[in-house]
Amino acid sequence: MKQHSSSGEDEILSNSYDKVQAVFMDRDGTIGGTGHFVHPDSFTLYPNAQKSIDLLKLAGIRVFALTNQHRISRGEATVEAFNKQFQGYGFDQAYICPHEDECVCRKPKPGMLIDAAKEHNLDLTKCVVIGDVGSTDMLAAHAVGAKKILVRTGWGTPLINDISGEMGGNGA
Ligand SMILES: [Mg+2]
Ligand SMILES: [Zn+2]
Repeated sequence: MKQHSSSGEDEILSNSYDKVQAVFMDRDGTIGGTGHFVHPDSFTLYPNAQKSIDLLKLAGIRVFALTNQHRISRGEATVEAFNKQFQGYGFDQAYICPHEDECVCRKPKPGMLIDAAKEHNLDLTKCVVIGDVGSTDMLAAHAVGAKKILVRTGWGTPLINDISGEMGGNGA
C-alpha cells in the first residue's frame, strides 16, 4: 500500500529513516565454504556472493563479516589471514571471535555486534544479520533487535525444513 505524503521531502526523510545501515555476514556456509572450518587460503565463495557484497556497497550500505573462528585459538589459522581474506572481498571490517573458551563475543552472544555498533555508530535495529545457523547467527541478531536472514546454504536448508515442520508441515 502506498502512503500519501505531503511533500517529496517527507518521502526522502522517511526513506533515510528506514534505510539499512549495515549488513553483517557470517562466513562459513553463508558466503561460501562448507559450513565447517576452511582455512582462508582454501576458502571459495558461492556464486553471486561477491556480487551481493559489491551491490550492497554500491547502495551505500556498510558490509561487515561476523564470524566465529575458534580454530584460531588452536593455531590452525590467524586473525590476520581472516582479515586479509575479508578485505579482499571488500568487507568494511571483519568481526571475528577467535576464542575457544568462554568469551563475550562468540555468537550467539551479541558482543561483536555491540562492538560494531559502537565503532561505526550503528542502530542495530536498522542492520541485517545474514547467516546459516539459527542457534548462533540468528540468536545473536535477535539479541540486539537486528533483522535476520537465514540462508539455505551451509546448515541453513535443514534448519529451514525443521522450522517449516514446526509450523505445521508434514514433519520429518
Ligand atoms: Mg555459518
Ligand atoms: Zn570470542
